[in-house]
Amino acid sequence: MNLVDQGGCQCGACRYEIDTQPFVAYACHCRACQKLTASAYLTCVQVPGEDIAFSRGMPSSHVRETDSGNQLRTFFCQSCGSTLYAENSARSRVRTLHLGSLDHPDRVEVTTHIWIRRKLPWIKLPFDHRLYPEAGDWTADYAADPTRYRV
Ligand SMILES: [Zn+2]
Ligand SMILES: [Zn+2]
Repeated sequence: MNLVDQGGCQCGACRYEIDTQPFVAYACHCRACQKLTASAYLTCVQVPGEDIAFSRGMPSSHVRETDSGNQLRTFFCQSCGSTLYAENSARSRVRTLHLGSLDHPDRVEVTTHIWIRRKLPWIKLPFDHRLYPEAGDWTADYAADPTRYRV
């Protein structure tokens, strides 16, 4: 799947362009993502960092340590607070783009859910989606295109 779009924060101070073949798109239902979004879950798509180009503004960032001991840095607009993407110290090339920041988020289909043991009880997941109780396993997704994925 090819993803060509523009995106940015709510106020427009940060804008980016993207032209890429995403690795994997998923929803994360963990408590940290519920806190980050102040919502039920985070939806995101993993892309190579070199495929995102900022055309306006530069986001600020906040770092937290994950349960597995990695550094997760989330980038957000310092004017309006919208989150845009994150990068994980364990996968330095990958950017986890927050799906709602795209101008056309409907161009990405999410069929994978992680940390579903933390999902809110009223959320009904499609039976044919790929579901993980905790962290996702992306080995097969990356192996499908090993020349493009390097840590
Ligand atoms: Zn903004
Ligand atoms: Zn999460």
